[in-house]
Amino acid sequence: MNKETMLAILNKIKEYDRIIIFRHFRPDGDAVGSTKGLQRILQLTFPEKEIYLQNNDFSDYLAFLGGEDAPLDDELFADALGIVLDTATVKRISSPKYELCKELCKIDHHIDIAPYGDVSWVEDLRSSTCEMIAHFYNTFKDELKIDAQAATYLYTGMVTDSGRFRYRDVSGETLRLAATLLEQGIDTDRIYANLYLEAYGYLKFKAHVYQRMQVTEHGVAYLHVDKAMQEEFNLSLEAASASISCLDSIRGCICWIVFVDNGDAEGSIRVRLRSRFVTINELAEQYRGGGHSCAAGATVYSQEEIEELLQKADALVKEYKETHEDWL
Ligand code: AMP
Repeated sequence: MNKETMLAILNKIKEYDRIIIFRHFRPDGDAVGSTKGLQRILQLTFPEKEIYLQNNDFSDYLAFLGGEDAPLDDELFADALGIVLDTATVKRISSPKYELCKELCKIDHHIDIAPYGDVSWVEDLRSSTCEMIAHFYNTFKDELKIDAQAATYLYTGMVTDSGRFRYRDVSGETLRLAATLLEQGIDTDRIYANLYLEAYGYLKFKAHVYQRMQVTEHGVAYLHVDKAMQEEFNLSLEAASASISCLDSIRGCICWIVFVDNGDAEGSIRVRLRSRFVTINELAEQYRGGGHSCAAGATVYSQEEIEELLQKADALVKEYKETHEDWL
């Protein structure tokens, strides 16, 4: 079934002279890695085709992977195939111009809450979209070409979306595909240095996070990185949001959440939810969000909504702990 869908996507790629690749806004390593990895594979395999990345925003910490292509004139989209990677819903696509494409393919590993595209290949048990692109390459490797650069993009996304191959959705297949990429000659020291070395000032902020974090009655760790804290530590929104990872290893806390003031006129607050074992994407869906069972995002607009969301998260954790003995 998936092989048929992959073949349909490969045939669409063959059919078009121009292919435009999109991802979600506020990109992570998987969004950037999968788009750049697919672009590179297609450029190597079909040098006569035009393959572009058209997205409106970027993330500083992924600058080492390189940028987007210069914006294209609108008329060039009309006879192009659009491929959207790592993006569950059209609302999250980084450029509205996907609508101008003649046809659209979706390739994604998020739960398919709002399907779109003329051809859609979604596998929500995959650890990353990069893993899917590596699988796509592997399935058609007699036809497709890869090199160390393409493998580096894909491996970076696999590493970041799987927490360095730690998360539950990492399978034997994930590691076999990662091995295929490694064999292309990836410089993993360079990838890890780019991804994980931290600035001195950011470590000072982390120390503050550990001072300020709180835990609900049944074990939801949380933190509000408000505007004042962002200013005190001179944090970008991205750096403030990254504080979620500070809360991920507290014994007894199987859910952790950060609230980050976006600083816009509406007073919106970004919510990042993470969990072990207990499912939290349905909670995120109640607050204008969604995501995976153990990694989701939402938006709230007030302290009342923060407290309400925390109460509901606490109730989920309580119920989980009461009905499972193996939660650690
Ligand atoms: P984040 O905390 O932004 O990294 O999001 C975690 C996961 O939830 C990612 O896989 C996102 O794609 C998904 N997600 C975040 N925000 C939303 C949203 N508003 N709607 C749907 N999915 C979301």
